[in-house]
Amino acid sequence: MASALPAFTLERNPQPVAIAERAKLLADPGFGRVFTDHMAIVRYTEGKGWHDARIAPRKPIALDPASAVLHYAQEIFEGLKAYRLADGTMAMFRPDANARRFNQSAERLAMPKLPEETFLESIRQLVRVDRDWFPTVEGGSLYIRPFMFANEVFLGVKPSAEYLYLVIISPVGGYFKSGASAVSIWVSQSYTRAAPGGTGAAKCGGNYAASLVAQAEASRHGCDQVVFLDAASHKWVEELGGMNVFFAFDDGSLQTPPLSGTILPGITRDSLMTLARAEGLTVREEPYSIDQWRADAASGRLTEAFACGTAAVVTPIGTVKSPEGEFKMGTGGPGQTTMRIKQKLVDIQHGIAPDPHGWVSRID
Ligand SMILES: *Cc1c(COP(=O)(O)O)cnc(C)c1O
Repeated sequence: MASALPAFTLERNPQPVAIAERAKLLADPGFGRVFTDHMAIVRYTEGKGWHDARIAPRKPIALDPASAVLHYAQEIFEGLKAYRLADGTMAMFRPDANARRFNQSAERLAMPKLPEETFLESIRQLVRVDRDWFPTVEGGSLYIRPFMFANEVFLGVKPSAEYLYLVIISPVGGYFKSGASAVSIWVSQSYTRAAPGGTGAAKCGGNYAASLVAQAEASRHGCDQVVFLDAASHKWVEELGGMNVFFAFDDGSLQTPPLSGTILPGITRDSLMTLARAEGLTVREEPYSIDQWRADAASGRLTEAFACGTAAVVTPIGTVKSPEGEFKMGTGGPGQTTMRIKQKLVDIQHGIAPDPHGWVSRID
């Protein structure tokens, strides 16, 4: 571990996006297509540690064709949001949890740990420099994407001796309007996302690469998303390609699959469990099978299901399709428990409701 934390230097972008053009982009940013003027970048070299920390103009980075990441996919990332609170201050939601998870992912991918304070400082500094990039659309936020990849020029198979850590920011629109409608999901029978001992609990690009063919299969069957079952028995529901899953029952209780090592430990998942328990709801972290899901939806015991993650916050699941047929939760629209718990979380994130758990981290 490097002993001293690298201090960030700032090089302002000499050619920022023109104000009128930026205003146009921020009125309707969509998701992940618009980017700010700057990026954060820190280098790692074995023996030297983390160094050369900079906030710099956002631009393409040159990679040697033998750069390790291009061959063996040693790469991890994070995703979190910054909001403008009701009182105008900028704030992140539980960034310390992202910093910790980033290092857990680093450990699994045999990468060096990044000091949590460097992770947090890189984001704070970048958000300050790009503070004029908050979307003007209702419910908009800055989607922050820290990532790290192996950059040694070497084709041997071993952990890289060099890494780049970067942070980029994408202004994104709210999910308030579209988020009210429920999605359909496809139960993948031919593909799995993660196996015991694999990288399912790490936030690495490789997991996403492996999920794309299943997502394409879901699209072919007219579904918005894919839900993965466990690799060993194809019985237990695990999660979606990039979101955790919850079930709501007619007795008011909630259930979500346990973190068994094959599921990504979502910060939204954790936050929703905390909020639901504080409300007095019973929340079980227990395995749930696809057969039980079908049976409970048919009997009416299961009233709602939803997916959750930073990007889309909470997304109701209306319809589940598989080769065996199709079933709906309730009427197939968003359920009451889902929308209530979502609103609770969103109100804390936006500084509308009190923050009893100390989750909102202000940026001066
Ligand atoms: C990022 C991610 C989630 C959601 O995590 P959050 O911390 O809530 O954003 C869920 N599943 C997978 C596979 C993910 O990569």
